[in-house]
Amino acid sequence: MIYDVLIAGGGPVGLFLACELRLAGLSVLVLEQAEDPRSPLKRLPFGMRGLSAPTIEAFYRRGLLDELTAPKPAKDSAPSAAHWMHQSRRPGGHFAGIQFFHDNIDTSKWPYRLPSPAGTSMMVEMESLETVLAARAEAMGVEIRRGFGVEEFDQSDEDVTVRAGGETFRGSWLVGCDGGRSTVRKAGGFEFVGTDPEFTGYSAEIEMADPDKLRPGRHYTATGMYTYTPPGTITMVDFDGGAFHRTQPITLEHVQKVLRRISVTDATLTALKLATTWTDRAYQATAYRKGRILLAGDAAHIHSPLGGQGLNLGLGDAMNLGWKLAATIRGEAPDGLLDTYSSERHPIGAQVLDWSRAQVGLMRPSRSSRALEAIIRDLIDTRDGAAYFAERVWGVSLRYDLGGSHPLVGRSAPDFELVDGRRLGDLLRAGRGLLLDFDACAPFEALASRWADRITYVASDAKDRRGLSALFTRPDGVVAWAGETAPNPEDVARAASQWFGEPGKEPASV
Ligand SMILES: Cc1cc2nc3c(=O)[nH]c(=O)nc-3n(C[C@H](O)[C@H](O)[C@H](O)COP(=O)(O)OP(=O)(O)OC[C@H]3O[C@@H](n4cnc5c(N)ncnc54)[C@H](O)[C@@H]3O)c2cc1C
Repeated sequence: MIYDVLIAGGGPVGLFLACELRLAGLSVLVLEQAEDPRSPLKRLPFGMRGLSAPTIEAFYRRGLLDELTAPKPAKDSAPSAAHWMHQSRRPGGHFAGIQFFHDNIDTSKWPYRLPSPAGTSMMVEMESLETVLAARAEAMGVEIRRGFGVEEFDQSDEDVTVRAGGETFRGSWLVGCDGGRSTVRKAGGFEFVGTDPEFTGYSAEIEMADPDKLRPGRHYTATGMYTYTPPGTITMVDFDGGAFHRTQPITLEHVQKVLRRISVTDATLTALKLATTWTDRAYQATAYRKGRILLAGDAAHIHSPLGGQGLNLGLGDAMNLGWKLAATIRGEAPDGLLDTYSSERHPIGAQVLDWSRAQVGLMRPSRSSRALEAIIRDLIDTRDGAAYFAERVWGVSLRYDLGGSHPLVGRSAPDFELVDGRRLGDLLRAGRGLLLDFDACAPFEALASRWADRITYVASDAKDRRGLSALFTRPDGVVAWAGETAPNPEDVARAASQWFGEPGKEPASV
């Protein structure tokens, strides 16, 4: 069998992309290296991931939000939650550990954000997320083969042949979602450039003889940074140039030595229950496509987990790529559509890498970094400052440069609630374009009917239409066109051709 798409890697990005492609009717095979997706590192506390607004909206628009927010059965002995989860004032997020708070954020700066079931931030456990996505993918008909690590591949003008787990698979396209050490990226000869690490980061669950010796919370010291969450969770940053990471086993003796040096205490560890290391290496592929090979998620970009943005970045890649690759394979895509995946997502990735580098700059054990920290603390505590950091951390400032004069073009569509109670988020569930016509204008209906196989047309007023008369979105919910008074249907026709090709056009060459 020749699959439409082979996906290397059944992590969150590979699984979500598989759902997107299957939604568009493609045949998809996910090849996942690990036999068993479960791992203690994917559970509380180290497996907790903060989701940003674009990610939550993506899940909402595909009907996945309820499953992700469903309460989980309580565990017998729940490990400690992050230290900031216990605060009375509601934190909105942080920059290098410096928090901003909800009550300080001036949301009037975002006039097009409407109340929605998709909020601006939420936490999810990696294992739950992967379980929900894998179940959805399989229910939709995606094939997932576990224990099949991609080893090598060849691509021709027509297809890609992949060797994985001793077997050979063929697909029209291969997408590498195989994480930071991606085999697809390396074997495909993608250029990967960036900055080398300054530190080794540690996340560890420990037991201590004298827990009172460590102060709870995050602390910068003359030798690094540590966070202690009682009773036994520590995170440390040791500015060793990344020398320790993945070069030696993580032993209790080593963690204790680093902890004592960084915390400037003589704290004694009695057990090391779980530990992992990471660095601030920040690299990005210069292009996300080579012929029939594409990259998404950590395979395309890596950076320190400190800003908590890697998963969001990768899921954003998947939401952007899925419908474009599907349209390309179905022969409906306008020329160059698939190239907009790289041109839209690469700059977003570069911004996130710089955001993570800026945090490293503030964390160095130096006088200048402490001075910078004091300034950021002052700024983040202002209403403008809190809104700025919230915009970046929550992803609400995300905008693709799509041209167009309306400020909504290139941004995520507001979650308009129609007078009949339906919401924009529900109307995007099928993964099609959407023309929302608040004034039920006849020319718009005629226009949409020309792309009836790709665009859903809805004529209905909204409870709050924010001054718009009509709105046209891509399948990923990004606004392609927005009109206020007496809009010209020809403008919508141009936007429809730009993203969906000409009606009845012959398949484009790819
Ligand atoms: C401690 C920590 C905290 C973090 N916190 C956050 C956070 O709060 N918010 C956030 O957005 N991000 C966070 N991140 C980053 C986030 O976890 C990653 O960016 C995200 O998991 C990337 O997803 P992915 O699917 O691209 O890659 P992965 O999750 O790495 O999945 C890749 C998959 O590919 C498989 N694979 C590998 N090689 C092959 C092969 N050759 N063939 C087939 N399969 C293969 C792997 O087994 C794996 O299942 C954090 C990371 C860490 C380490």
